[in-house]
Amino acid sequence: MNKSALIPLDTALEQLLSNISGDRQCEWVSTFEADHRVLAEDVFSKIDVPGFDNSAMDGYAFNHADFLSNQGILKAGQRIPAGHFPDKLSKGHADRIFTGAPVPQGADTVVMQEECETLEDGSIKIQSQPTAGQCIRFKGEDIGLHSKVLASGQRLDPASLGLAASIGLSQLKVNARPKVALFSTGDELVMPGDVEPEKMKPGAIFNSNRFFLKTLLLRLGCTVTDFGILPDQLDKTREAFSRAAIDNDLILTSGGVSVGEEDHVKPAIQSLGKLDLWSLAIKPGKPFAYGQVLAPHKTTHFIGLPGNPVSSLITFLLLAKPFILKLQGASELRASEFAMRADFTWPKADKRREFLRVKRNSRGGLDLFPNQSSGVLTSAVWADGVVDNPPGNVIKPGDQVQFISFSQWMS
Ligand code: AMP
Ligand code: MG
Repeated sequence: MNKSALIPLDTALEQLLSNISGDRQCEWVSTFEADHRVLAEDVFSKIDVPGFDNSAMDGYAFNHADFLSNQGILKAGQRIPAGHFPDKLSKGHADRIFTGAPVPQGADTVVMQEECETLEDGSIKIQSQPTAGQCIRFKGEDIGLHSKVLASGQRLDPASLGLAASIGLSQLKVNARPKVALFSTGDELVMPGDVEPEKMKPGAIFNSNRFFLKTLLLRLGCTVTDFGILPDQLDKTREAFSRAAIDNDLILTSGGVSVGEEDHVKPAIQSLGKLDLWSLAIKPGKPFAYGQVLAPHKTTHFIGLPGNPVSSLITFLLLAKPFILKLQGASELRASEFAMRADFTWPKADKRREFLRVKRNSRGGLDLFPNQSSGVLTSAVWADGVVDNPPGNVIKPGDQVQFISFSQWMS
């Protein structure tokens, strides 16, 4: 491929993902610990959920035909709290029943207690006109016996963990966590905490990328080894990468992937394996590298993100995230996009596909952050997502645009 040509994002993503082989390790983990993990197998239910017809209300259970033939007045029957199995309903009776309690055999209808009155002789008068079958949650209406409830490749979230628990699973088989070695590069970087902000030397900046990259990796279920800041020196860079390759699936760096003299990531990876350096046709985030480091008995993936914080964040989400999800066997790799209305003007078309930092407003439209520079991390905090703007497209107020929400994208 011509290295100077701008590469469309989709082409780069396809090429990047094609480097991942299908074999992966899996493990059993507690359902409590499985949030954000990717299922390694389909999950089938060994039971019906609910396992029995039960009441959706606190109220009375009775037989609808009895209700009709007794003009809505029934004798008070047994009391059925949740967790207790009742006797059969007696003819002409209404049983006191509570939410989640089994509906007694012979009853087919439940009425909420607010629609019932206890008469002086103790019998129950049903004041509403119930339809047969109402207020009952039927056996198997949520999950049928032997049905597939969760699919291999599904990324687990709190709701799916609850669903797994509802069919009695305390353990889930998930794919192994990718092991990621995280590096920051650049002699200008200083760790927050190492120097008081007002005592920073001229030319130094705080390492911000390390914080959001580590957080994003942890949210993606990775085991992260933070190798800290690499100085702009070839021998140290090479030595650190070859050490990191031994015990990791992926080496992730930010900065140092341009082609300046101080960018040592490229020659270091080239000498340890191979490297593709791409100029992506996106904004922010032009330089991006994928490579492989040959370690004893294995090959370790390498991803080099640009150094500018917003470029680093956006390229992580666009490319590194799908890569890491595929390493874990996830089936859903791309972010969802939603059509929304632009309440702003973007008058300058760019030949690159742009990811504009925007925020939803109370009128159901999107506002634009005024400074879209790739170094302005404030834009990503103010924004609650991006507009995926195709190459060559200007935006006028009222136009439909494609929106990606940060809350989903960063999880
Ligand atoms: P580079 O690609 O190394 O030339 O870096 C591009 C820009 O990103 C430079 O202004 C760097 O100072 C900045 N940068 C690189 N790494 C980081 C980092 N970890 N945190 C904040 N800024 C960074
Ligand atoms: Mg640098």
